[in-house]
Amino acid sequence: METKYEVINQLSQKAYSKTSLSKDEIIELLSCPEEYTHLIFDVADKLRKEEVGDEVHLRGLIEFSNICKRNCEYCGLRRDNQNLLRYRLEVDEIIATAKNAESLGYRSVVMQSGEDGFYTAEKIATVVDGIKNSTDLAVTLSCGEFSKQDYKMMKNAGADRYLLRFETSNKELYQALHPDSDYENRIQCLHNLKELDYQVGSGFMVGLPGETVEILADNLLLLKELDVDMAGIGPFIPNPDTKLANEKGGLLIDSLKAVAMARLILRNAHIPATTAMGSLDPKGREKALNSGANVVMPNVSPMKFRELYALYPNKICITDDPGHCRNCITGKIHALGRSVAKDHGHSLKR
Ligand code: SAH
Ligand code: SF4
Repeated sequence: METKYEVINQLSQKAYSKTSLSKDEIIELLSCPEEYTHLIFDVADKLRKEEVGDEVHLRGLIEFSNICKRNCEYCGLRRDNQNLLRYRLEVDEIIATAKNAESLGYRSVVMQSGEDGFYTAEKIATVVDGIKNSTDLAVTLSCGEFSKQDYKMMKNAGADRYLLRFETSNKELYQALHPDSDYENRIQCLHNLKELDYQVGSGFMVGLPGETVEILADNLLLLKELDVDMAGIGPFIPNPDTKLANEKGGLLIDSLKAVAMARLILRNAHIPATTAMGSLDPKGREKALNSGANVVMPNVSPMKFRELYALYPNKICITDDPGHCRNCITGKIHALGRSVAKDHGHSLKR
């Protein structure tokens, strides 16, 4: 009879050597006891080095509006949250923020927001056009669901990438958490973005209430099926201003296992060490970078708004300015023996 150690060790090696894993095998690895997780993390780290190298890509995150018409149960920006002061950056302010990011050495920015009706596809296209005409930055959008026509307008304006997490692959759980939106539409949006030739990022939260390890395995398989260019995975962190305030939330160890499994399954995708991981543990992002991740998204938003972009509590870096964040993260990356990439960090799948 094989010991648990042997089972995990063999399966990790199998995952590393490209033999695609069955759902049961993925579940076995995701259920790995904490004392053996290093076996999975080590092969994921080795594969990361082979597939995407030692360079870490930085994407400067611009949180340009916390106004949202949707009501996702887990999120502090949901429209029914009355405890949040709302803000939006003007078109010129977003462009200035992007220019500042470029002057700090960033090659790429992510424009993220709630679904703010003021920021129509046309307005977003104007901003993208403004950034593209005044910088050499790669631009990623993460502004939620739009029609294919709208996505096309933003692409034509020069947007390179789009991040839209499916949040969970389980339809029932998705519907329970998104009272005013539809799982099928979310997935359709991802297909539309791919058809429009965006580099597409998707992903999910770990530890949502009602989630099982089977659902987590399905999440990973859906990322594979979508053949995403980027995979964003982070713990669910209960927000005190939502109905889910008293839920347990995702654990760092489970999120790290999911990141490592994403690396083993998706091979050369870009995988961020997410801010939510850094918010659960001061070393969370470093641990993710040692378990398969190769991207970090430091905040470049103006300081006065950082606290208000409150998806979840205890978000890191809300009192740091963009220059400080850039130096701080570079120091952490060097301390891991890694370097900051100097290129745009485009998808390696094309
Ligand atoms: N409105 C856009 C982008 C902003 S939200 C959208 O929804 O796609 C960006 C991500 O924040 C979401 O995809 C979700 O995965 C994450 N998020 C929201 N609330 C969270 C919470 N309480 N804990 C952890 N992550 C959260
Ligand atoms: Fe709005 Fe995105 Fe938060 Fe949902 S997750 S409430 S769409 S900001």
